[in-house]
Amino acid sequence: MPFSSLGLSPSLLRTIGLRGYSAPTPVQAATIPAVLQGRDVLASAQTGSGKTAAFVLPLLQQLQSIPYDKPRKVRVVILVPTRELATQIGEEIRSLSQHLPQVTKVAVVFGGVSINPQMMHLRGGADIVVATPGRLLDLAVHNAVRLTDVTSLVLDEADRLLDLGFAEELGRILAMLPAQRQNLFFSATFPPSVQALAQTLLREPIRIELVPEPEQAPDITQRAIAVDAGRRTQLLRHLIGQNGWRRVLVFVATKHAAEMVADKLRKARIYAEPFHGELSQGKRTQVLADFKASRLKVVVATDVAARGIDIAQLPVVVNYDLPRSAVDYTHRIGRTGRAGESGLGLSFVSSDTLAHWRLIQKRQQLELPLEQVEGFEPLQAAQAATAAEEADSPPSTGGIKGKRPSKKDKLRAAARREP
Ligand code: AMP
Repeated sequence: MPFSSLGLSPSLLRTIGLRGYSAPTPVQAATIPAVLQGRDVLASAQTGSGKTAAFVLPLLQQLQSIPYDKPRKVRVVILVPTRELATQIGEEIRSLSQHLPQVTKVAVVFGGVSINPQMMHLRGGADIVVATPGRLLDLAVHNAVRLTDVTSLVLDEADRLLDLGFAEELGRILAMLPAQRQNLFFSATFPPSVQALAQTLLREPIRIELVPEPEQAPDITQRAIAVDAGRRTQLLRHLIGQNGWRRVLVFVATKHAAEMVADKLRKARIYAEPFHGELSQGKRTQVLADFKASRLKVVVATDVAARGIDIAQLPVVVNYDLPRSAVDYTHRIGRTGRAGESGLGLSFVSSDTLAHWRLIQKRQQLELPLEQVEGFEPLQAAQAATAAEEADSPPSTGGIKGKRPSKKDKLRAAARREP
């Protein structure tokens, strides 16, 4: 199906052509006509599916038919969980709207930076506001933005919005919006909390649940390597060197770990930077730009910070620390294998995270062999396997912060192994 059959205007089709998109992705083919008809949409869409353009294109077209007032009135609100995603969507809107006859003004607002420039930018109004919920609420409370003329609301990565505890802010924002509006709801997963939100928010939505066609399914090889926790950095260095990886996104559990692993890699002359929520926005933008321009080989990131990273040609994602949940696993692995490229998602599993890894695999319906790399064979593997085998339902270690076996545990395990 060509883009031209979806009802988009010639100027948008021209922009799409200049971008080199030959055909709409499945989520675009289903979403664009529905949005143009003014319908509510409930889409299960992964990052990498082309979902951003799927809602941005028809919303831009709708805005063209509304003559704008001075100051401009906010017609579209796009709520996202992270500043990186907000920035990316803002860039996408600016890029896709550049050839439109009527200029579209977009304001991107998020927390963690000074509110004043955002207030200034909003002074003349805006057509579209892309925001994280907390900051939008602050701006609305300070009368820096009026939400009474909004005609369309987009919730992007709704599962993540709820995961990050934005439910209350969301509720308060929803109460400020006109009841009569179009709602577009995008989520990678649909746990009960997300379903409940969708149910209260959407009116007779068009449901878009695309089973990716085999050739369009992201081509991501998943592997798991058993390694002792204390040797993970060495193994990472070894794998980077041995495989000649040029760009690697490494996930860790904490800011401290991000700093530490990046530091160790740098000492081994591998260009690496940490990427976490305590870095200034300027620094985060710089790290991403350096990563995209291949001035950096490795970015060591926490989940929240890495949420919005969209890098074409990211061949490898490494779970140095396992993700807390199966949902996070999906999001992490989804950073690679984008837009038709193939990718590798590698997880390091040590004795204290084995039980948690099994849980993630179960939820993901995965059964990966636990590989070993020569020279990095885990000393604690046998013990971990025995312990996991013995327990019908292995005690949760609470994820990556799992309890390491004590000396006593080790002695007991050694005694069990003896004939
Ligand atoms: P998203 O799922 O919105 O994060 O988009 C993932 C990537 O796919 C982005 O880099 C887009 O530029 C790209 N993309 C979006 N639509 C298309 C399309 N129709 N054809 C090829 N690439 C696309």
